[in-house]
Amino acid sequence: MDFSFSDENLSVAKLARAFAAKELAPGAAERDRTGEFPLELVKKMGEAGLMGISYPEKWGGLGSDSVSHMLAMEEVSYACAAMGSILGAHYLGSDGVNLFGTDEQKEKYLRPAATGEKLAAFALTEPGAGSDVGAVSTTAVRKGDKYVINGVKHFISNGGVADYLTLCARVGSDGGVRALTAFIADTDRPGFNVGTKEDKMGIRSASTWELVFEDYELPVENRLGEEGQGFKIMMSILDRARVEVGAMAVGMARASLDAAIKYAEERVQFGKPIAAQPVLREMLADMATEIDAA
Ligand SMILES: Cc1cc2nc3c(=O)[nH]c(=O)nc-3n(C[C@H](O)[C@H](O)[C@H](O)COP(=O)(O)OP(=O)(O)OC[C@H]3O[C@@H](n4cnc5c(N)ncnc54)[C@H](O)[C@@H]3O)c2cc1C
Repeated sequence: MDFSFSDENLSVAKLARAFAAKELAPGAAERDRTGEFPLELVKKMGEAGLMGISYPEKWGGLGSDSVSHMLAMEEVSYACAAMGSILGAHYLGSDGVNLFGTDEQKEKYLRPAATGEKLAAFALTEPGAGSDVGAVSTTAVRKGDKYVINGVKHFISNGGVADYLTLCARVGSDGGVRALTAFIADTDRPGFNVGTKEDKMGIRSASTWELVFEDYELPVENRLGEEGQGFKIMMSILDRARVEVGAMAVGMARASLDAAIKYAEERVQFGKPIAAQPVLREMLADMATEIDAA
C-alpha cells in the first residue's frame, strides 16, 4: 500500500504551515496566559480555507481529502495547541451537517462553517453522561412543529462562543441510546444560556463551557437525521475526531521536540551544550523516532 502524500495533501499542509507560522504562533503563549478566546484568528483561519478543508467545494469547502485535513490539523497544533483544539471542536460541530444534513441544512450551517463565518461546537457530554453516552438526560419534547429542549451540557469546547451546536438530546421515554436524537442548535435562540467557563491548566484560550437549555425551542427542520439516530450520528462524528486528536498530538509533539532541541543546543554545562552529551542525544533521537512513526 502506498502511504505517500499526494501533491494536494502537501500543498494543503504547506498552506496551513505558512498560515500558522505567520498568524497563530506569535502570541500563542500570551493567549494561553490570558485565556482569551481568539475570535479574530478564527475568522482569519476561515478566510485561509482551514475551516472547511475536506468539505465539498459545492458547500464552500476546499474539497480536499481527510489526509489533507489531518496534515492541516497537525500544522495548526504545532503552532498553537489551543487553535488546534478550537479547529477540532469546530469540525466536531459541523461534520454532522456534512455527513447527515439535508441540502437546506448544509446551505444554512455547513457553508458558513466552511468559510469561517460561523463557528460550530459539539454538545454531547453532561455532568452525568461522559463515557456513558446512553446516560444523556437532556430532553427534547415534540410540540407541533417544534422541539422544546431542557438540560445541561458541560465541558463543551467553543460552547460559549459558537454560533451553533450539534446537540444530542433524548426524545421519548425509551432508555439507553435508542431515544437519542441529534439537533442543530442555534445559540442565539431564547432559552440557551452560557454557564461556567472552565478554568483549565493549559490550552486555555480554547475555552470549555457549561451550557444550560431552559425551554429552548427549535423548529423540526433543525433535527439532524431522524428521531433515534442520535447515537449513530454522534459516534460517526467522533470517529473522525479521534484521528484528528492523534494529528493534533503529533503536531504538539513535533513542537515539543523542536523546543527541546533548541534548549539542549543553548544550555551549556561542563563547558559544552548539553546536546553534546550522548545520553541526551539518545533521548532526542528516541523522541524523533516515535514522532516520525506516529
Ligand atoms: C478539555 C475538554 C474538552 C472537551 N470538549 C468536549 C466537547 O466539545 N463536547 C463534548 O460533548 N464533550 C467534551 N468533553 C468531554 C469529554 O468528551 C468527556 O470528558 C469524556 O467523554 C469522558 O467523560 P468524563 O469526563 O465524564 O469521564 P468519565 O466517563 O467519568 O470517566 C472517568 C474515567 O473512568 C474511565 N471509565 C469510564 N467508564 C469506563 C469503562 N466502562 N471501562 C473502563 N474505564 C472506564 C474513563 O476512561 C476515565 O478514565 C471535553 C472534555 C475536556 C476535558
